[in-house]
Amino acid sequence: MSKLDTLLEELVTANRILAREEVVDSFGHISARHPERPDRFLLSRARAPDCIERDDLMEYGLDGELVDARGRKSYLERFIHAAVYEQKPAVQAVVHNHSPSVIPFGVTGHKLKPLLHTCACMGHEVPIWDSGDKFGDTNMLVSSMDMGRDLARRVGEGRTALLRGHGSVVTAPDIRQAVYIAVYLEVNARLQMQAMAMGTIKFLTKGEVDKILESTGPVAFDRAWENWCRRAGRPVGEMTGV
Ligand SMILES: [Zn+2]
Repeated sequence: MSKLDTLLEELVTANRILAREEVVDSFGHISARHPERPDRFLLSRARAPDCIERDDLMEYGLDGELVDARGRKSYLERFIHAAVYEQKPAVQAVVHNHSPSVIPFGVTGHKLKPLLHTCACMGHEVPIWDSGDKFGDTNMLVSSMDMGRDLARRVGEGRTALLRGHGSVVTAPDIRQAVYIAVYLEVNARLQMQAMAMGTIKFLTKGEVDKILESTGPVAFDRAWENWCRRAGRPVGEMTGV
């Protein structure tokens, strides 16, 4: 299989996993940068992630415009992906979702912070992007390159950001890590709310997060990927970390 074929299969799998793990529902999406054309990325037509087949995946330019529509409709929020790939050359995969447990942390002033070792992948800081700051009252969707670029700047050097009253965005150096971070961002948010109800939380320290990030590699990402593929009923593909 060519690099592009392998990536397209992996992107279908990533959509199914995110649906199975309840990071996305009827809405939300994952994209990947084109392996041979860094000025393009791949994203499904407007369809619920659990329904996505390989032929739904389409190529976009970094302006968020389709290369070849063939009558298929795009996600309105494709500009999130386009702007992140435009601004962050190292990013190879992007997830945007509205997973329920992260939402309270975008609207209350309580910061989402890593409290479990597998959740250190979210990074030290999860900034909040408030669309109202620059764009006033909107329908809350990231519907232009202007909005996408403003959000991508908020992600900055980090891996994730929350969108106030809307959801989150995850950026990563490959599809498997993007899925891993998106799943554990939701897990951390759920656990943090439970822990907050019990008392004061002792979060991971900055040094602990650094050490976990240094020591987490393809072996961990592949182990999770294999497990989630099984649960989603999808082939595992090549195990890079074994
Ligand atoms: Zn959205």
